[in-house]
Amino acid sequence: MTIWFATGNAHKRAELAAILPGHTIRIPADEGAAFDPEETGTSFAENALIKARELRRLTTASGNGTYPHSSAAPVIADDSGLCVDALDGRPGIYSARYGSESGNNTKLSDPNRNLLLLKELGDNPLRSARFVCAMVLLFSEDRFFLVQETLEGEIIREGRGSGGFGYDPILYLPEFGCTVAELPDKEKNHISHRGKAGRAIAKFLDGQ
Ligand code: IMP
Repeated sequence: MTIWFATGNAHKRAELAAILPGHTIRIPADEGAAFDPEETGTSFAENALIKARELRRLTTASGNGTYPHSSAAPVIADDSGLCVDALDGRPGIYSARYGSESGNNTKLSDPNRNLLLLKELGDNPLRSARFVCAMVLLFSEDRFFLVQETLEGEIIREGRGSGGFGYDPILYLPEFGCTVAELPDKEKNHISHRGKAGRAIAKFLDGQ
């Protein structure tokens, strides 16, 4: 089955394609279209639904030049981030914008965001944190399957590892004895918030 994936990120598409073998995953970039809807929700789940509904609107609109293959194919969208308990769940849904929220439009680099977070947390002994991923499979405006998963860990005092992206170097996984950035890609996909959410969607889809 063809499934639209509401992302601008080709790396995420490859990840999802591996989780959904036998399905064709299409992203807006395949049609030469940019995709960056305003994420106005107050939760990961709301933002995932906003992205999914927006892509469904675009892909089902008739006579839309950008999406000539207008179809009723289902849409998958996700929203993810890092929630730190000692920071009352921040940066949370603002993870991608952390450090550049107040009127400053320049996004920080991943390493600078990590340094800022370590500084903000300081010596606080409460280090528990998690990656969260909400993922939705949308069939029509009001018919969808939504799942939210986590990857639990602790914020380390100094970043370690060069794999992955984003906050991976500062989330330490006690049961693996390493940070997420020190895990091979395959291992990360197996235990990650996004991998688990994607597999729940694959299972649901296969039962349809
Ligand atoms: P989005 O879901 O693509 O909007 O991701 C939001 C932000 O959360 C990213 O820019 C990263 O900073 C962070 N994030 C989400 N998932 C991960 C992950 O697996 N590792 C590290 N950072 C992540």
